Amino acid sequence: MNLLGIDFEEWYHPKLIQKYLTNQKKNLLITNGIDKILDWLRKNETYATFFIVGEIIESKPEILDKILSDGHEVGFHTMHHDGLESLSYDKFDNELKTFNKLTSGKSVGFRAPTFSLNHTTSWAIDALEVNNYSYDSSLIPVKSYMYGVSSNELGPYRIKSQNIERNHEDGKILEFPLLTSDFFIRRIPIAGGFYLRALPTRLLFDAIEKYEKNEIPATMYIHSWELVPELMPKIDLPFKEEFITYHNIKKAFPRMDSILKKFKFTSFTRYIAKTD
Ligand SMILES: [Zn+2]
Repeated sequence: MNLLGIDFEEWYHPKLIQKYLTNQKKNLLITNGIDKILDWLRKNETYATFFIVGEIIESKPEILDKILSDGHEVGFHTMHHDGLESLSYDKFDNELKTFNKLTSGKSVGFRAPTFSLNHTTSWAIDALEVNNYSYDSSLIPVKSYMYGVSSNELGPYRIKSQNIERNHEDGKILEFPLLTSDFFIRRIPIAGGFYLRALPTRLLFDAIEKYEKNEIPATMYIHSWELVPELMPKIDLPFKEEFITYHNIKKAFPRMDSILKKFKFTSFTRYIAKTD
């Protein structure tokens, strides 16, 4: 059994886009794709965890009901999609409490925007503990252009703020690192995003099969805007940012669809309940 997280955010949330926004009105567009996304999951008989940006629920509370009534889970993806580096312990703690109210205490999992959990932002783990969270899925165990730490733990482990790279028997928070694959002499992050769109599908299948053989859940992610690219406005970005954000954007949905048809995926809480 593998894990599917949907990072549910608006078109203006990705970090690479935020920097280049000028006077565009921040209309909610992607959120209108919720029914298509839920239909797709229903057809694939798959439950997912929606790591949702809190301000979306503030303006459209009905989104939360739709997700929950289909049996999916909601997790926290900060209130405004700020990277942890731009928050502090206190701000983050406040956001957790706000989100807790918005979701009537239903959220027990966290995903940091742009996988921004690292050695300098690991105070977030302490805040999750204090707020009775049970898991986090914010680490990519490989260093890359935008994110990552050099951890060797590939499967779920108990994480602590003092050392986020290794298992602590007494850690309260379960960490689910994102899927990686060994590619020649390098380990590459292939759990979603740009890599999901750019790499050959065969490579993704092989990586998931390898994890399954080792009895490690493959933890994958997809952005809401990759599932409804037809609703994604195109913002003028410099070449590198444009490539990372929009390259093959229409391929993410069919790719993930073929993965769900070949392998079994579920939400984090359902997975934890089964393996406890
Ligand atoms: Zn995000």
